[in-house]
Amino acid sequence: MAECAPYDVLIVGGGPAGQAAALRLHGAGLKIGVVDEQPRPGGQILRQPPATFVAADWMEERSYRPLKRQLGRFEAAPDVEWLGGSSVLGIEPGSAPGVHGLTVATPEGATGIRTRRLLVATGCYDMPLPLAGWTLPGLFTTGGLQAFVKSQGFVPGQRIVLVGTHPLQLLVARQVLQAGGRVERVVFVQPRSALLRPFLRRAGGGLVGGNALLAAARAWRDLGAAGTKVAFGLKPVRVAGEQHVSGLVLARSDGTEEHLECDAVGLCFGFLPQSDLPRMAGLAMERQGRLRAFSARHDEWMESDVAGIFVAGETTGVAGADAACVKGALAGLGMLHSLGRISEPSARKEAAPLRRRLARLLAFADLLDRVADPSGCYPEVDDQTILCRCEDVTYGSVRAALGTCGSANAVKLLTRCGMGPCQGRNCEFSLLRLMHGPSRCEDAGFTVRFPVRPVPIGDLTG
Ligand SMILES: Cc1cc2nc3c(=O)[nH]c(=O)nc-3n(C[C@H](O)[C@H](O)[C@H](O)COP(=O)(O)OP(=O)(O)OC[C@H]3O[C@@H](n4cnc5c(N)ncnc54)[C@H](O)[C@@H]3O)c2cc1C
Repeated sequence: MAECAPYDVLIVGGGPAGQAAALRLHGAGLKIGVVDEQPRPGGQILRQPPATFVAADWMEERSYRPLKRQLGRFEAAPDVEWLGGSSVLGIEPGSAPGVHGLTVATPEGATGIRTRRLLVATGCYDMPLPLAGWTLPGLFTTGGLQAFVKSQGFVPGQRIVLVGTHPLQLLVARQVLQAGGRVERVVFVQPRSALLRPFLRRAGGGLVGGNALLAAARAWRDLGAAGTKVAFGLKPVRVAGEQHVSGLVLARSDGTEEHLECDAVGLCFGFLPQSDLPRMAGLAMERQGRLRAFSARHDEWMESDVAGIFVAGETTGVAGADAACVKGALAGLGMLHSLGRISEPSARKEAAPLRRRLARLLAFADLLDRVADPSGCYPEVDDQTILCRCEDVTYGSVRAALGTCGSANAVKLLTRCGMGPCQGRNCEFSLLRLMHGPSRCEDAGFTVRFPVRPVPIGDLTG
């Protein structure tokens, strides 16, 4: 990937949003590239196995079919250059007039790429949930556990327990069963009625998102048939184990505890938008959803406040893969218009049905956000519990630092919380929650620095 003439459009992220944007742009005579740190396109939801694997029954659940069709069209588009296995480390907006620069770690080393229009469609990641024992081997986020199953057909545990507030854990549990694994229990922290009633109340009105609900219902049925119990109203207290996870301790509503034996635990409490690149590039951000997570602000064409830099998909707020596709298509249309390849009236006409569909999908996402809201179920954490996993910083150290300072950046300087390889993805949200209560995290967070991904120093100097 040697430095060459600027791309007309460079897309960071080959998930549903990035694919939809590329498909709207293709055929217009543009030089289009898609960079992704995964070797193959698909994003989080369609994480593909390596090309050398034979996986005939990969992601067969009905609800994935439209996305698989889009992926097939994307992979067949001849004018979309796939730059896989490459991480974007930083963005320099306006590195030259009308051009944005990116530094990208490729398998051959770091390189610079320039582009006239940039789309950041980097998705989301699982919300981390610190609790006692969460650094033991065998503790996963549910998405992390699922990544093994999707991309390798590998189940990382013999006896798995999933716990959380998000219905996605039903789908993941079934994927584990289909891959030959065993799920001891799927535990929802909220009572059954709090999970089901909001969906049932809206179902009569022809709820958009019905496919996702049906998929969850089918998964629940299959779990029952396989003997996996789905439990409600139990809160995680601590992960048990010495060298490895050996169990999960849950609290019942009457205050008594239940100990479940297992060797792997998946935590499923929702998702946070991937905000590192937009924040590093200085794009205007806002707080989204009940988690008040950082997400990139944009106009009706998904363009950020920096001209020529567009954002789409879950980088702009967690709303599911269908909404990501619509936002990606709108961004593609917006970039076509801003490059003078489509007139404004034509773009508006094409965008109108997309916007109507997006409004319905966002209403469903809001409902899901409400149902899966983890505020109120965070475990109590003592001073010995690790908050920053990369730098082994405890809650005790952070609480002591907060006695003398009041910003996330100051805590970082005093304790090294957020200075490690993940650059705060695992600790920033919990730190902000500690500072400002369960749902109000109004601090600006850590200042995001280059490089946003770990990279060998020789790759940069070479
Ligand atoms: C682990 C995980 C599993 C999920 N599984 C499901 C599921 O089974 N079902 C479901 O309905 N929803 C699932 N979701 C939610 C799902 O991710 C979204 O609804 C959908 O994939 C969002 O599409 P997107 O295009 O916005 O982002 P994504 O699909 O996340 O695509 C973003 C892409 O950007 C790439 N990227 C990020 N940062 C960089 C960088 N710095 N440099 C280069 N590339 C980068 C990533 O590798 C990724 O491929 C999951 C989310 C996560 C985090």
